[in-house]
Amino acid sequence: MTEAIQEIPKTKVQVANDTLIVSDEWVGTTNFSIRKPNVVVIHHTAQESLEQTILTFTLTRTQVSSHYVIGRDGKIVQMLNDYLRSWHAGRGRWGNDTDLNSSSIGIELDNNGSEPFTQPQIESLLVLCKQLKVKYSIPAGNFIGHSDIAPGRKVDPSVYFPWKMLADEGYGLWYDDQVLYPALNPPDSTTSIPLENPEMLEKDEIDPIVALRIIGYDISDPKAAIQSFKIHFIRRDVETDLSDFDKKILFNLYKKYL
Ligand SMILES: [Zn+2]
Repeated sequence: MTEAIQEIPKTKVQVANDTLIVSDEWVGTTNFSIRKPNVVVIHHTAQESLEQTILTFTLTRTQVSSHYVIGRDGKIVQMLNDYLRSWHAGRGRWGNDTDLNSSSIGIELDNNGSEPFTQPQIESLLVLCKQLKVKYSIPAGNFIGHSDIAPGRKVDPSVYFPWKMLADEGYGLWYDDQVLYPALNPPDSTTSIPLENPEMLEKDEIDPIVALRIIGYDISDPKAAIQSFKIHFIRRDVETDLSDFDKKILFNLYKKYL
């Protein structure tokens, strides 16, 4: 890899039009730097221990890795420099980004996939997210889960993952509470319009699949996109279609990603 970086490339352009001049001269610019990550992808390991995950990520044959692994006790183990490309995301898409390994930091949480995440683990994750967000100016909406970028292929982190708590701290986006509890938003309030107002509902409603696409989901398989959305934002009945309740949340949420 070091050789590839140091190589002076030869310009190789096939030119059909012989009036176009293509020089094969290399002129090194003085103005550059290394790239910075702009997305954080959160995973659960689906393994039984931190040690097991660390072993998996150090065996060449597995071809998988992550920048950070966080144990159930909150211990953070870094396994790769933030500026390098870890192999945690695989095939996936978020918005128009189809190479998440190149743009993101991978964080794996030691968790078997069917249990709640421990408090020390989430506390450590919040500290790490804060550090990454500040250091690389990562937008709140770019803190996402593996299932968000790989609908139909990945389901981590599971419905036990506390996305709302993270969003409250500035990592990931969440819907407004009054969507579900209009009573908290009295009709005489001058600061917001009650959501049961039919006019407002009409204005907000768009094709749900388009709304999912605006958020960032790959909608090539709409059913899978709905499942990923539900794992993250609804956290139950993830196999079923969007209910009216789910749509309320979706229509509130997509605007935050515009
Ligand atoms: Zn994953």
